[in-house]
Amino acid sequence: MQPLSLPRHIVQQRFRPPKTNIPQTPAERNQMLQFIRHYVVEYNPVPPLPVEQLKEHADRVVGMLKCDPIYRDYVGVLLNNELWRETLAAVPYERRLLLLPKCLRVESKCPAPFDEFGLLCKQCGLCTIQDLQAEAEKLGYAVLVAEGSAIVMSLIQTGKIEAIVGVSCLSVLERAFPYMEAAAIPGVAVPLLQDDCIDTTVDLDWVWDYIHLTSDDRTRRLDLGALRDEVNRWFTPASLELILGPGEGETESIARDWLLRAGKRWRPFLAVAAFEALRAEAGTPLPTRPRSSTTTSRTTTRRVMEKRPCTKNTAWRWP
Ligand code: SF4
Repeated sequence: MQPLSLPRHIVQQRFRPPKTNIPQTPAERNQMLQFIRHYVVEYNPVPPLPVEQLKEHADRVVGMLKCDPIYRDYVGVLLNNELWRETLAAVPYERRLLLLPKCLRVESKCPAPFDEFGLLCKQCGLCTIQDLQAEAEKLGYAVLVAEGSAIVMSLIQTGKIEAIVGVSCLSVLERAFPYMEAAAIPGVAVPLLQDDCIDTTVDLDWVWDYIHLTSDDRTRRLDLGALRDEVNRWFTPASLELILGPGEGETESIARDWLLRAGKRWRPFLAVAAFEALRAEAGTPLPTRPRSSTTTSRTTTRRVMEKRPCTKNTAWRWP
């Protein structure tokens, strides 16, 4: 019998407010990233983009989002990441470099020494560097906890590194762009949320996603925004009539009124997202319901209503 092993403790970051030129909440930052993903799909700018062109696109995104122009540099970095996304996904993990800044550590307590390649993490469990490094190395990445373009450039020149996943502050990223453009090395860089070089934080789930990005994973191409729009379209009178057939009787009419009410539609959305992720022909139109199943759907609706009689004061939920 295998001995029981508990999952390893995942280090949490302490909360620190982001600097002013970065959207302040994870929800705002995620929304911005999703918008930029759609923008890149629609306008399809081809990397490597010179800095000036990148700034033009960033200005356009800021205008479309109607957000504060103070976020333009941040938008530029996210845009550049998305331009390289597909290229990065095609590079094997063993040909990638993960570059982390030493300021992610807890500076006052970190026992790690330095050598000519940077910080040598002692895995003391105090900061996120240990998890990111362990995970990336497990996948096959080379990992450096270091700053400075010289060491990165010398690694690129060895020809063994074909893509970079980095974490850095906006100002360092701005300085690094010309090097990456010159080397035409695909790279994504997740901006640090602070730039005071001590005890900094980052959107960890973004770093985690980019580290694992690979073209072997079909689910990464899921357009969740489009899927959500599609699910919302199901809950219109015309769509319900198409799926369920013409309504019959007062009970069914009440059931349909409830179905049409505004809601987050999490259950159908998650169901269809799981279906999309698992089916072989992901990305092709969703199969439509065969007409013969109309009777079954109607019967199901009726059964649901019979089980859950709804009055004005009863909150009805999708079972
Ligand atoms: S986990 Fe590594 S980098 Fe972080 S504080 Fe500990 S030794 Fe330093």
